[in-house]
Amino acid sequence: MTPSVAVVGGGVVGCAVALELARRDVAVTLFEARETVGSAASGTNSGILHTGFDSTPGELESELILRANALREEVIDALGIPVLRCGAVMRDAPAHLPYNDVAASRGPDGTLEIPGEWVTDPVAFTHALAGAASSLGAEFVLGEHVAGPLPDFDVVINCAGLYADEVARSFGDDSFSIYPRKGEFFVFDVPVDRILLPAPTTRTKGVLVFPTIDGRCIAGPTAVDLEDKEDWSVREEAREEVMRKAVEMHPPLRKAQPIASYAGLRPAGRGVNYVIGRAAADARLINVAAIRSTGLSASLGIAEHIGIFISGHPQNWGGVRPLPTFSGEGSGPSTDLVRPDVEWWRK
Ligand SMILES: Cc1cc2nc3c(=O)[nH]c(=O)nc-3n(C[C@H](O)[C@H](O)[C@H](O)COP(=O)(O)OP(=O)(O)OC[C@H]3O[C@@H](n4cnc5c(N)ncnc54)[C@H](O)[C@@H]3O)c2cc1C
Repeated sequence: MTPSVAVVGGGVVGCAVALELARRDVAVTLFEARETVGSAASGTNSGILHTGFDSTPGELESELILRANALREEVIDALGIPVLRCGAVMRDAPAHLPYNDVAASRGPDGTLEIPGEWVTDPVAFTHALAGAASSLGAEFVLGEHVAGPLPDFDVVINCAGLYADEVARSFGDDSFSIYPRKGEFFVFDVPVDRILLPAPTTRTKGVLVFPTIDGRCIAGPTAVDLEDKEDWSVREEAREEVMRKAVEMHPPLRKAQPIASYAGLRPAGRGVNYVIGRAAADARLINVAAIRSTGLSASLGIAEHIGIFISGHPQNWGGVRPLPTFSGEGSGPSTDLVRPDVEWWRK
């Protein structure tokens, strides 16, 4: 018999997990504190689908990004998720890149081109996963802040992003803590045809310039460690910090004025990353936490990992049901969870 499962948190990770479990015929209920899914870190990021070309080989994060890459094409096709297959370039790329056998070519000046780095609309991506999960029977309870251990469920999957440590603590698990690492962005009405990447540091991927699905260009993010998990403001000094680096990468930005700005808060673990597994304090709780910088890219891999973990085998419980498919404009997963109405960076 399949267990009854609660997912706490409707970011891209929670929605991907809900879809995976619904495809395995698990009775799954997702609780989201906000009135909509995909509006926290998952709706305020760079929207880049990373290939893993710069992810340290052998780490769980890297493995799940690579697995997600293999799963993604089928999902974006079936659910009609918008994707710009634009590729990325990194000037002065370190000689050890690319990692993980990711397809890339290096020019004589050291520039690395990575054609598989794509851009999506991260809100539409998350809503599409939620919509598909819903149409396969997953229940979504929006506007519901989970404060206790949900005794009516056999398994609780903690995908609560910034608040995953608090959810874990309500189960007696204080094994990790989460802090917000803010990233600020500026949106421009200036075209750019590819993702322009700086050489990465051990701390962040740095300030990028990247195109959006709707033909704009975004510069950012910063990386500022905070304590306040509700500070989604864009600091005054952020523009100077971002533009100094962005103009160097994309000179047409020199005279441009931003048409919008936004900030995202990465759910960063203190001293840990990708905390995925059963809590020692309570066997009912499975943490999927501290998914700091790559959760959009890795979400499908994370979800499959959880599906296999819970069921004990890739094909247990009758395997994985096919995805619902879009059959044209306005059709597809019939749920108001799918709302691709406003540009995602304005939400
Ligand atoms: C600046 C920035 C740039 C990034 N760029 C990229 C990128 O280009 N590519 C990429 O792959 N990743 C990127 N990321 C990382 C990515 O955004 C995250 O890894 C991912 O969004 C994490 O998803 P999540 O579902 O774990 O968290 P979230 O999206 O934060 O979702 C958690 C959800 O849980 C809900 N919640 C919290 N507590 C409770 C509770 N008690 N009860 C009910 N609900 C609760 C919240 O309301 C929230 O909706 C970036 C992140 C940032 C901030």
